[in-house]
Amino acid sequence: MDCLFCKIAAKEVDSNIVYEDDKVIAFLDINPVNPGHVLVVPKDHAEQLLELPEDNIVPVMSVVKKVMKALMDQPDIEGVNIMQNNYAAAGQVVPHVHVHVIPRKTGDGHRHWPGISYGEGEAALMSLKLKDAIK
Ligand code: 5GP
Ligand code: ZN
Repeated sequence: MDCLFCKIAAKEVDSNIVYEDDKVIAFLDINPVNPGHVLVVPKDHAEQLLELPEDNIVPVMSVVKKVMKALMDQPDIEGVNIMQNNYAAAGQVVPHVHVHVIPRKTGDGHRHWPGISYGEGEAALMSLKLKDAIK
């Protein structure tokens, strides 16, 4: 399969691997937000989180936590963002599930989304709609 992260997992493409087990691989992002930005990737191919089998969720998130702990043990890292993009509309560029683990430091210049406000009654409607849709 012509998938970059499958090729990295198979060692057909080089990367700076920081962790690996039978289900998960973690390596440095080639274009980091900050130094130490890691991508945690299930070895089995799944394009988006919705396609990732349930029995991969805990292994992937457990590696995310290990990587976060290692980052927080570094003297110059004060916080960590965990991010996971799904579909092009949400900024996903590589169509193989990956979780970004991004080290942060106060005043590093990166910003959160600005956020919007709900109009009158919109939050209640939205929560009802989602409550119905969540299975
Ligand atoms: P996405 O936007 O799909 O959530 O993130 C894809 C990430 O993969 C980007 O942050 C990008 O820098 C990283 N990336 C793209 N190509 C390579 C590569 O060949 N090697 C590594 N290590 N990271 C890559
Ligand atoms: Zn893949």
